[in-house]
Amino acid sequence: MNPHRKKKISSLANFLASDFLDGRIVNLQNIAAYEELPLHYDHYEDTFDGMLVYVNSTFHIHINIDKGNTATSKRGRFTLAHELGHYLIDEHRIALKYGMITPHQSKNGLLNKDLIELEADYFASTLLMPEIPFREICARKNFSFQLLEDISNTFQVSIMAAILRFIEVGSREFMVVVSKNKMVRWYAKSNDFQKVSFKFNVTSSLPKDSMSYSFTNVMDRDYLSNIEEVDTEIWFFQGFYGSTVFEQYYYSEINGYLITLLWFK
Ligand SMILES: [Zn+2]
Repeated sequence: MNPHRKKKISSLANFLASDFLDGRIVNLQNIAAYEELPLHYDHYEDTFDGMLVYVNSTFHIHINIDKGNTATSKRGRFTLAHELGHYLIDEHRIALKYGMITPHQSKNGLLNKDLIELEADYFASTLLMPEIPFREICARKNFSFQLLEDISNTFQVSIMAAILRFIEVGSREFMVVVSKNKMVRWYAKSNDFQKVSFKFNVTSSLPKDSMSYSFTNVMDRDYLSNIEEVDTEIWFFQGFYGSTVFEQYYYSEINGYLITLLWFK
């Protein structure tokens, strides 16, 4: 996404959020009502999370309850915010209305996203976690998973959504590595993270000496590790940072992912 596009989408979302905030939670249902957009929460089995369609001169949003999307669930809130993005971003709505794009089934997730999905995700992320309240929550707090949980609960978004937003506007250099069965699936770093080479890549194993690698999921329950100070060299080739790095991980029983956070003092 180019910076100009990003700026346009974030001003739209920040502006809208300021009009529909209940405390720190954006009231998405009120936005849909204000736009006179019918919402259909229904059972669509294992298909999409949400979908915006244009029929008989009216836009409708369909939300799939079968994938855990309800009006109040964290997943459901992200899905609705994403679909509102498709409607409120002019280019998406117009393209859909005139058949330049076909209604597509939006799915939550990190991988294989095309540009319009990235734009709707970015809109959703900004709408749910507007910049000013987000910065207030983060101000003067130590970084750790606890802070991300605070963000997740304050704004009623998933941990992953909180992490992605933190990468965008957070004031902390950190890295996140998402793995499943010890294999790296995805990673990202904050913009200001130094250029160091990693001892892993997507589809490789986690570094074998890492705390995350040694985690075994016996109980298949959500699990949060302690914060450990570990050798930088476990994760990175020699860089400009100190000789130790903090590592903390969280196992999510919902999708079996291990989310590892790495950050320097
Ligand atoms: Zn979408």
